[in-house]
Amino acid sequence: MESFGHVIAGEEVVSAEPAEFESVDPWTREPWATVALGSAGDAERAVRAARSAFDEGPWPRMSFAERRAILHRLADLLEKHVGELSAADTADMGKPITQTAGHDVPRAAQNFRFFADHAQLTPAETFPMPAGHHAYTQYDPAGVVAAIAPWNFPLMMASWKVAPALAWGNTVVLKPAEQSPASATILARLAIEAGLPPGTLNVVHGFGPDSVGQALTESPLVDRITFTGESTTGRLISRAAAANLTPVSLELGGKGANIVFADADLDQAVGWSIQAVFSNSGQVCLAGSRLYVQRAVYDEFLARFTAAADALVLGDPKDPATQIGPLSSREHFTKVAGYLDIATAAGARLHTGGVDEGWVVRPTVVVGAGQRDRVTQEEIFGPVVVVLPFDDEADAVAAANDTPYGLNAMLFTQDLSRAHRVARALRVGTVWANCFFIRDLRAPFGGAKNSGVGREGGTYSREFFTEPKAVIMEIS
Ligand code: NAD
Repeated sequence: MESFGHVIAGEEVVSAEPAEFESVDPWTREPWATVALGSAGDAERAVRAARSAFDEGPWPRMSFAERRAILHRLADLLEKHVGELSAADTADMGKPITQTAGHDVPRAAQNFRFFADHAQLTPAETFPMPAGHHAYTQYDPAGVVAAIAPWNFPLMMASWKVAPALAWGNTVVLKPAEQSPASATILARLAIEAGLPPGTLNVVHGFGPDSVGQALTESPLVDRITFTGESTTGRLISRAAAANLTPVSLELGGKGANIVFADADLDQAVGWSIQAVFSNSGQVCLAGSRLYVQRAVYDEFLARFTAAADALVLGDPKDPATQIGPLSSREHFTKVAGYLDIATAAGARLHTGGVDEGWVVRPTVVVGAGQRDRVTQEEIFGPVVVVLPFDDEADAVAAANDTPYGLNAMLFTQDLSRAHRVARALRVGTVWANCFFIRDLRAPFGGAKNSGVGREGGTYSREFFTEPKAVIMEIS
């Protein structure tokens, strides 16, 4: 069994009142690691370390170039330790090793490089004033950032929060999800090796409600809360943060619509649609879990899509041949499997898929569901897609917009005007046309409606992780 502690003030430590929990590998269904189980008191200890590192330490006072050099060193170390980090995320939550090693860890390193460069290179505004004055914006670091991460992209989501927060001169307390704690400790160990001053990046493990997560959101010593997770948790965090008027960035759930028009390149549409809903066993906030297909190509698309879904290789996520691993935990498996019963009880049919051995759900295609059925409206967060026919563009847009979520949507068409028109009509934070999951880190990322509050990425992250200050000078 491996062992992972909190990292507070530059030291890997146990809990103040020693307690541990086990992280279970969802493929073997056996514990593979022991992890320090933190309490509200440990969260407080980590916040105090971050507070004094911010108020008295060198990090917020360094030049952008100095911070950039350290963050690039950290990115180098993440790349060097890709084997250890990807094995940790795969053991914690069952994602195929080709995805953790080939995507998540490289993207995490890229996040550190991008935000380090962006913070140094982005110009700030100046405002020449007519009557002998001059104004400019200074972006001061906000202070102590609490970063609360989900389990579905453990290292990558942590880095999406930690990298911009650090690049802009803040200090951080990271709470990874209890289902996927290991890579956060490894990240903090590597941050020490890269030269991050003690207390600049702290990691504290534990649960959310009545525990570490809640304590972070209620702390008056925290200046920003960045959270990714479920919409219901986002509401609780918003409420807790309101007591101290702490600004909150919320990246929440989704129920992505994927619209395939009759004029689409079907090879392209099938390929991306498979990736959109089955990669990481559908445990992706951006999953294209509602597939609207124009009636003229519905049968052909469904046949090709189903064949591609059936061809995905299920198995041990540590095996490089595996494309679909188990769901992340017994609890999550039970939830996803429950939705298959909810779908069929409401009159829908499983065209292919269903539950398998262990905590595995096969790529599942649901047909015959209604737009208002729970399976179409609610986030399942598993390898389950509802396929529905539509007649014209207006129907497709209306159906796509008809859920409480608004994170993202995809559309496939060869008609450029239609692509722009539909992209404009969709009430979501991101639209992908004829592709999926391609990102530019300068672009805004976040959700409309119940999918989030605020945007991160590029200058959007700067707005959130700094206090923009207007400085006005007499120059006449
Ligand atoms: P979750 O909300 O259960 O937990 C997320 C984190 O919040 C965990 O670290 C958890 O311990 C903590 N937490 C739980 N209750 C808390 C509380 N009361 N106070 C403070 N912290 C608390 O979410 P999850 O199951 O880990 O992640 C899956 C969800 O995340 C899905 O809904 C998915 O769509 C969403 N997600 C969104 C994005 C995005 O960018 N919009 C990205 C990835 C995942």
